[in-house]
Amino acid sequence: MNTTAPPTIDLRSDTVTRPTAAMRAAMAAAEVGDDVYGDDPTVNRLQSRLAERFGFEAGLFFGSGTQSNLAALMAHCARGDEYLVGQEAHTYKYEQGGAAVLGSIQPQPLENEPHGGIAIEALERAIKPDDVHFARTRLLALENTIGGRVLPPEYQREATEFAHARGLRTHLDGARIYNAMIKRRTDERTVAAGFDSVSVCLSKGLGAPAGSVLLGDRALIGAALRWRKALGGGLRQVGILAAACLHALDHHVARLAEDHEHAERLAAGLRALGLAAPVPQTNIVYVDIPAPHVAPLAAHLRARGIVATVGMRTRLVTHLDVPREAVERTLAAFREYPGWSA
Ligand SMILES: *Cc1c(COP(=O)(O)O)cnc(C)c1O
Repeated sequence: MNTTAPPTIDLRSDTVTRPTAAMRAAMAAAEVGDDVYGDDPTVNRLQSRLAERFGFEAGLFFGSGTQSNLAALMAHCARGDEYLVGQEAHTYKYEQGGAAVLGSIQPQPLENEPHGGIAIEALERAIKPDDVHFARTRLLALENTIGGRVLPPEYQREATEFAHARGLRTHLDGARIYNAMIKRRTDERTVAAGFDSVSVCLSKGLGAPAGSVLLGDRALIGAALRWRKALGGGLRQVGILAAACLHALDHHVARLAEDHEHAERLAAGLRALGLAAPVPQTNIVYVDIPAPHVAPLAAHLRARGIVATVGMRTRLVTHLDVPREAVERTLAAFREYPGWSA
């Protein structure tokens, strides 16, 4: 008797991907050394490869994107400095306020525009004059993609030029920068243009089990290296993870386009059911679920092996472990939900 249940479909995040057999083989074969001594050849290869691709002098490996962003903010800003950041930004909202808590850096959160950036006029108003009353405004931090949206290229240019003209540095939280690059059909240098530092995650849609790389000039990366040690992020034979990251860069970048197609297909299917699910730009679908349906729909999906963060604004994320059949199965489950007609 064949009673094999269909595999679980996990749409909570693109962080849930598991390393493929080929990635595990690359990890097992990795040449390693003690990275605190700078001796891990695989880590060094990953850092220099990303630095070269994105057009920076240097790169630095981190175990998480949160730590990479925090070290970047601490390298750019001193105690009593301030950074301008969107209300919806990961560094501001989803990283335990680390810049303030651990870095003594004051965030100046500003409203995000519908396109994901911050209006130039809002930035202009938020920059503090050189006066003893105020924190020193030092840095503009943006995010791409943000909530699945790709920063408009003309906004990227305008905002980074504005910041530099006002003496600010610029940081990009590029946890999903490869999704933005693939969507824009461009290259690493273009999508990173105008930023003094970029944090790239390999553990989201690219499918590595862990790993982020911070990119910047030698002075910034030198400062970040010190903070990484203080934050407990100096790791030893971590080439095992860097090998997974290199494998992801070789094999999982172009295929992000599939995740984007799957997200579009999912949103279109949900709209066909009369639900509000705007056309996604990349791999994140948002769908509004009327409050009375939230709990029963979550249970209905769970019973069909579909794990999702169901709420009034439900987020469904496509990734490496969501093949086309999984998209169809998810849509079928939404269709079979008996509550819509009620
Ligand atoms: C996931 C993510 C990070 C980093 O998260 P970690 O879980 O610490 O790796 C940073 N910024 C954004 C926008 C993210 O989505």
